[in-house]
Parts: sequence; C-alpha cells; structure tokens
Amino acid sequence: MSLDATVIKEQIRRFGADFVGIADAAGFLNPGYTGNRPQDFMPGIRSVIVIGVVIPKGCVQPLPKGRPEYTNTLMAGTATLRVIAFRIARDLEKQGYQSALVPTEGSEFGMWYADMETLRADISLKYAAWLAGLGAYGLNQLLITRETGPRIRMTAILTDAPLDADHPTEETLVRSECSACQRCVKACPVGALFADGTIRPQACRDYMFSTLGGLRCGMCIRVCPL
Ligand code: SF4
Ligand code: SF4
Repeated sequence: MSLDATVIKEQIRRFGADFVGIADAAGFLNPGYTGNRPQDFMPGIRSVIVIGVVIPKGCVQPLPKGRPEYTNTLMAGTATLRVIAFRIARDLEKQGYQSALVPTEGSEFGMWYADMETLRADISLKYAAWLAGLGAYGLNQLLITRETGPRIRMTAILTDAPLDADHPTEETLVRSECSACQRCVKACPVGALFADGTIRPQACRDYMFSTLGGLRCGMCIRVCPL
C-alpha cells in the first residue's frame, strides 16, 4: 500500500516544521554522490523525509556576540525537529514501515554522530535536501534555501515506506551566487572554508568544541546575503 505523501507533509507542518520535502532514496545511488549511503544500514530504504525549521534572525544577527543565545536557539531547533520526526517515525512504524531518524548535529561537526576521522555522517542530510528540492549547497557547506538562506535546521526520517518523491529544483549542487560573493570564506575565523567549495571540517570542529568550549560559531551563516 502506498502512503499519501501530502497527508504526511501536512501532519509534519502541523507538528511545527517550517518546510518538508521527500527524497527518493535511490538518489543516493547516483554515481556523482560520494558520501555514505543510507542503503548501507537500511537496505530496504525507499524514502528520505527531510524536515526543517527556520532559525530566528534575532540570534544570528548579533554574532559573534550572543553565542550562548545562538547556540541555545539552534539546540531548541534541534529539539523541535527531534520531536516532530519521532512522532512521524512512530506513526510510520505503526503502519508497518521501518523508520529511523537522521541526527541533526551529525554531519560535519557532530562529534559523536559522525565518523571521528572523516567527520562524515552516515548520510548527507544536505544532499537529501537537495534531492527533495529544498535548496542547494553554499560555499559555507550549508543548505541554502530560497526563502531563508542557510538560517535553517534540518533532520530526516529514513524509511522503507513508498512515498511520492519531490525532485531537485536547483540545477547545480552549489548556488551560483556564491562565486561572486565568498563572504563566508572571508568571515570564517579559522580559515575552514575555501573558494573552491572545499572545507576543513576538523578546523571548524576544533574551533567550536575546543576554542569556544562547545558554543557554536555561525559566522558563515551571519554573513550570508541569501
Ligand atoms: S561555523 Fe565558524 S568556524 Fe565553522 S565554517 Fe562557519 S565560520 Fe568557519
Ligand atoms: S556567504 Fe556568499 S559564498 Fe557563502 S554561502 Fe552565502 S552566498 Fe554563498
């Protein structure tokens, strides 16, 4: 039995999400994708439901002042996403479909969710969001949405439920505006970002978890004009 993706999306928004999109899990088998694949730990996966909330401007604009407020606001976004995703995952399992939650903090910088050597997550949440038509990457290595740029927080549900998938709305993985901008590259206090689209994730991790004692930096979001 196929589930109604529209109904699930409406429920996710009712629970407090600002945006949602569904990626066909087969997109992770594209030869151009080089990250870890969710198929490696959920062989029957069919859909990746990407869920996001918008981070309030009020905690971003004062940066680098107000890092505690910025960090706490991000964590509140994470908590909100966890609750929404958990409720949906539980509902899907009641209908007979396996489901698991992708860590919001787990991509490049999540110390405990990522591979400690490469700092790679089990799946790229940003790639799933691109597949689901929610935006494209910026040079700051974040997903840039059309509506609120990189000022977002996301999670995803991996599931073997068959759902009508959305499709990429951006032709390229990286936003075209970035080449003429590069503000995030210049603003990064530890030189972790580069104009060629690469990143030194360890430098960012060390800055936030050692120098800042766990507070988040956010300068690459603060300066982004998108
Ligand atoms: S969060 Fe800060 S340290 Fe990390 S990449 Fe962005 S600007 Fe650089
Ligand atoms: S600050 Fe500029 S270069 Fe960096 S992600 Fe935003 S638009 Fe792209």
